[in-house]
Amino acid sequence: MNLILFGPPGAGKGTQADYLAKDYGFAKLSTGDMLRAAVTSGSALGKQAQSIMAAGQLVPDEIMINLIRDRIQQPDCQKGFILDGFPRTEAQAKALDDMLKSEKKALNHVIELKVDDQQLVERIVGRYSCAKCGAGYHDTFKKPHAAGVCDECGSATFSRREDDKAETVTKRLEAYHRQTAPLLPYYMKVGVLTTIDGLADIDEVTRQIEKVLGTKEKIAAQH
Ligand code: ADP
Ligand code: ADP
Ligand code: ZN
Repeated sequence: MNLILFGPPGAGKGTQADYLAKDYGFAKLSTGDMLRAAVTSGSALGKQAQSIMAAGQLVPDEIMINLIRDRIQQPDCQKGFILDGFPRTEAQAKALDDMLKSEKKALNHVIELKVDDQQLVERIVGRYSCAKCGAGYHDTFKKPHAAGVCDECGSATFSRREDDKAETVTKRLEAYHRQTAPLLPYYMKVGVLTTIDGLADIDEVTRQIEKVLGTKEKIAAQH
């Protein structure tokens, strides 16, 4: 099963993608994570993307499309994949359709997480993650069980994204409303779109998504 988690920055896509990847055994394809890894490694792609990301703008379509095209052909994607942060423009959505067609893969679900802008700013400004394993946390909404220690790996080093500042967040929200939200009517027309209330707490959002996906593959993944 292949799906898109759709929604503005801070809606909870990455958080939910992590749970779903674990529960269903699907590959999580987060374009933001891929770009940040490229920036950290200092690759040519990273050098190109760094200032664009810092400004809260979108990296050129051609780069993103090639990144995803390579990725969905990998063995870990054959059982299913979750797109987090892609597509973000009409050109990306079109290219995704074409590549799925030529790979003979389906797009089974587009799950939109709906959250209003005011709440998004609070979520993004309070977001941080484990510097060692990448597990995501929030100052108010998702603290580690033991203060200052990562639940997943026990590390005590955390980091915040450079673009998670109030000034940049406004630019990213603008980019979402102008370039990404307009894709929703298309997925609605195709008949794959489900909208979920992203304001509910994290576990409730997971339950709602799993209700849409069904339990069959979840059970299969656990045996
Ligand atoms: P996205 O990937 O859509 O940008 P994240 O999954 O990184 O969003 O979530 C943004 C921040 O909000 C994180 O710090 C996360 O812990 C927190 N968060 C995610 N989902 C919820 C929720 N349903 N309620 C409250 N906080 C949440
Ligand atoms: P968030 O979910 O919080 O918006 P991401 O981690 O998905 O953040 O993306 C961080 C940044 O990486 C974006 O602001 C943008 O600059 C770049 N980026 C990620 N995915 C794409 C994409 N599909 N197209 C263009 N730029 C992207
Ligand atoms: Zn960790």
